[in-house]
Parts: sequence; C-alpha cells; structure tokens
Amino acid sequence: MTSAAYLSRDGQKVLLIEKNKECGGLVNSFTRDGFHFDAGVRALEDAGIIFPMLKDLGLQLDVVKSKVSLGIENEILHIENLDSLVKYRDLLKKIFPESEQEIDEVVKIIRTVMKHMDVLYGIENPVFIDLKHDRTFVFKKLLPWLPKFIFTVGKINRMNLPVEEYLKTFVKNPSLRDIISQHFFKNTPAFFALSYFSLYLDYFYPKGGVGKLPEALKNKIIEYGGEIKTETKIIEVMAEKCFLKDQNNITYKYDNLIWAADLKTFYKITKTEGLLPGIKTKMEDTKNKFLKNRGGDSVFSLFLEADEPLESFRKIANGHFFYTPSKLGLGETHREELNYLLSNFEKIKKEQILSWLDKFTKLNTYEISIPGLKDPELVPPGKTGIIISLLAEYDLFSKIQNAGWLDEFIQELENRILSVISDTVYPMLKDKIIARFSFSPLSIENRVGSSEGAITGWSFQKSMPVINKIQNSDRSVLTPVPSIYQAGQWAYSPAGVPMSILTGKLAANRVLKRVKKFRKT
Ligand SMILES: Cc1cc2nc3c(=O)[nH]c(=O)nc-3n(C[C@H](O)[C@H](O)[C@H](O)COP(=O)(O)OP(=O)(O)OC[C@H]3O[C@@H](n4cnc5c(N)ncnc54)[C@H](O)[C@@H]3O)c2cc1C
Repeated sequence: MTSAAYLSRDGQKVLLIEKNKECGGLVNSFTRDGFHFDAGVRALEDAGIIFPMLKDLGLQLDVVKSKVSLGIENEILHIENLDSLVKYRDLLKKIFPESEQEIDEVVKIIRTVMKHMDVLYGIENPVFIDLKHDRTFVFKKLLPWLPKFIFTVGKINRMNLPVEEYLKTFVKNPSLRDIISQHFFKNTPAFFALSYFSLYLDYFYPKGGVGKLPEALKNKIIEYGGEIKTETKIIEVMAEKCFLKDQNNITYKYDNLIWAADLKTFYKITKTEGLLPGIKTKMEDTKNKFLKNRGGDSVFSLFLEADEPLESFRKIANGHFFYTPSKLGLGETHREELNYLLSNFEKIKKEQILSWLDKFTKLNTYEISIPGLKDPELVPPGKTGIIISLLAEYDLFSKIQNAGWLDEFIQELENRILSVISDTVYPMLKDKIIARFSFSPLSIENRVGSSEGAITGWSFQKSMPVINKIQNSDRSVLTPVPSIYQAGQWAYSPAGVPMSILTGKLAANRVLKRVKKFRKT
C-alpha cells in the first residue's frame, strides 16, 4: 500500500492487487456483535517511519498512545516513561530476589540498548523526507546524526546473537531468562529483543482501530488516481513477458512489479522461461534458498466478548498488556518438549498433547489487548472486547489438523487460556463471556497467504535469506529480475509494520528511478 501510494502520487499508473476483500493484510480491524477487534498487530510503533510517512503523504490519523503494562504473577507495572525501567528492575528483584546482580546487569544492557534505539530512531527516517528541498532537515538533523548512526550500527551488529544465548552468558537463573525473553520469537537477535522496552514507549493506536491506517492509505491511493482490485489472487507471474495471472485466469501486463506478499509463493508461481540465463540461474538459486527457510513464529489469538465494563479491566492494566501468570518460565516446554511431540507425532497420544498444553498455557507470556481501553467507542456500553494471544507453532496445528482433531484442539486451547487468565489476572472474566472465537496459525496462513502462518517474515537463523542489516536496507527490495521488486515482511529481517512500510517506500523509489532511466534512453 505504501508503494502504491507513493507511485500514484508520482503520477504513475498503479494497480494494487489484493486477494482479500480488504487491504492491509495483518494490519486489520473488524467488528463483531458491536465489538471492535484488531485481527493482526494490536498497536503500531512509529520507529521514525510511520509518522514521517503519514506526514509526507498528507494522511490524517487520529491517534492515542497505546500504553503498555507488564505483569508477572500478581505484580503489574504500568510503563509510563524511561524511569519505568527502574520500576521494572524492582519488580524483577521482588520476584527473583536471589538474582539481584543478574537483574542489574540485564537492566544495564536494556538501558544501553535504549540509548542505541534513541539514535537509530532519533530522527525521522530520511527515506520519507524530501532531501533536495528540506535543507534544514539535512543540515540540522541528518548530517549531525549520521556519525552517531554509523557508530551505533556497529554496536548493534555486535548484538546479533540470539537473545536466549546472549542472556545465558550472564543470567544463570533460567526462569529469569525466560521471563525476559520468552515472548520473543525463537532466536530473535539480542539487540532487537532487548530493545522492546523502547518500543513499548513508542506504541500508538489509531482511534477506531489499527485498520484505520490501511483505510487512510487506500483513500490516498484512490485520491492520487491509483486503482485497487480486491478479491484477486495472483496465481502466476510470467517474469519474461511481464504478465500476472489471477485465479480467474485474467492477465495483467506490467512494466514494474512490486511483490509485497509471501516470497516462497512468489518463487513457486514465477515462470522463468525466456529470462536471460544468468538471471534465470539467480532466480533458481534464490528460490532454493527461500524454500529451504521457514517463516518465523506464528500466534494463536483468542477473541472474547465480555459482559463486564471497561472500568473493571482499566483498574488492573493498560489496554496493551504483556502478562506472564507464572514466574517459572516455559523452560523447554516450547522447544525440546514440543520438538519431541512434533517429531514423534504419529506415536503420541492425544492426552500427551493435552497435558503438554496445560503446561504451555500456564507458563507462557500473553499479549492482551483491550481496544476499548484505548478508544471507548470500540465496544458496546458496559461491555469489553478482549484479545488474548500467545506465540504458537504452525506445525503443531498443521499436524493436528491432518490427524483430524483441530476443532477439538482449538476448543481445548481456548478453554485453557480462559481458565489461566481468569484464575489469575482477570477473575471477573469467569462467568462473563458472551461469545468467543479464535485465529490459529492456520487461519493466518489462509488469510494473508503467509508461509507457516508467520507474522513477521523469516525465522531467525544464522544466515538469513534476506538483508538483515539496516545500513543495507536499500538493497532489500531487489530481486534477480530487474523489473520485479520485493517489499514487506518477507523482504527484510527483523520485520514488522515499520519495516514493511519502509521497504514499500524503498521499492517505490527503485521503480521511479527505473522509470526515469527508461524515459531518458
Ligand atoms: C498478533 C500480531 C501481533 C503483531 N505485533 C506486531 C508488533 O507489535 N509490531 C510490529 O511491527 N509488527 C507486529 N506484527 C506483525 C505485522 O503485523 C506484520 O509484520 C505486517 O503487518 C506485515 O505487513 P506486510 O504488508 O508486509 O504483509 P501482510 O500483512 O502479510 O500483507 C500481505 C498482503 O498480500 C496479500 N496477498 C498475499 N498473497 C497474495 C496473492 N497471491 N495475490 C494477491 N494478494 C496476496 C495478503 O492478503 C495481504 O493483504 C504482529 C502481527 C500479529 C498477527
């Protein structure tokens, strides 16, 4: 959508093709029984990207801060500002009095990471600024910032170790390690994981729900003369002839294509016949590399409509809440124990999976979002809509589906989540549920066509299949075919909404450059 908005602003002939009824993918909101929910991301982080993009495109979004609370067992902390880090340290010390020194060390590192984050996102991302005309920005902000940025990038790249391994080097208490890191994706680079305290302060929420962002972009694309075609799924890319084909066999001719969806799908459906031999070989190599890699972790989300006023929840925590009901931590539950279940699935009894599920739901960390606490208009009077989610492994759902008991498993999972949350932080939920439903990793795969139901692109591996260094982000949008660019969560790692937007803009820039070059020749 970012690419389409920028290209149509430049007067290019743009067609945005989307397989769903609505645009926005994992940035999406919907209403059910008068309750508003966000289907994907629960709040947005500016990261020096979203607000500059909105300003540059002249988009108006009415936003509020999406205040975050952190909770472990009975201790709940409301994050207000940088000083909350001291309160976080005290909270951890209260829960793990035996690990005072280790906690001091962790907090010291988080503080350093936050300083790096201040540099990284300290100015509006220059990609969204008109550098030719905005001299004040160039001389007052960009030039003084560049040396700090280069210095900081060096430091960041040295913290590329997976957070679990990194913490092991100085935190001996495994429960403490888990409590700090278990709500991150497997092998998240330490810098990215430990930067989350900064990101908590950065979260904002568009009034009316996160879906207001794609809605605003959609209106802008149309205003600029771009065309949007929904409920149209691309099933084939003919790279040499520059044609796309949709599910109804309708073909579309393009000069330049920006593929902003799953890249495994792109390489599977792209025909390379007729391309120059060098490009064809590069396409094959890239395809093999991508197909060998996996999408990152997925999530399971439980949506609840509760007959209980917002006030009951407001007293406990903010509308964006990371809650861990047990200080024990997941340990090997979501790693070795789960791997064992998955690799021996045929021999494993249903009861074993359900007893694993008991542990998994009791020891996990939940992301709880209450849209009505951010915007009270989003719920019927006296009622509350709640979204409770936890990271979930796609393969488990997939194997259970193949074994024929997915609906039962989902019921069991929903029951357990509900009982863990109502036995701990929200006791009033027990008898107040009017309706409930959920989205699994399989629903995500089905909805946005994302491999392994991934929500932020590739899983973290030693060697990543896409660019993963911010100083090289400009190249993240290139594919072996000069007329095809890539953008979005699969084009750069670590991904998320801001990087999807940034890569969208970078891809649009590349297309414009190419168009201008052709015009000259
Ligand atoms: C519960 C949850 C919490 C999250 N929390 C955060 C967070 O705190 N911070 C953060 O930054 N990110 C978060 N994310 C991740 C973030 O939402 C995504 O990384 C981001 O929205 C990806 O955007 P995208 O446009 O790159 O891809 P997508 O949202 O996957 O969009 C791809 C689009 O392409 C369409 N499409 C796919 N295949 C085809 C085809 N063949 N033909 C036509 N159209 C097609 C899809 O329907 C979709 O609309 C979260 C996600 C979830 C689900």
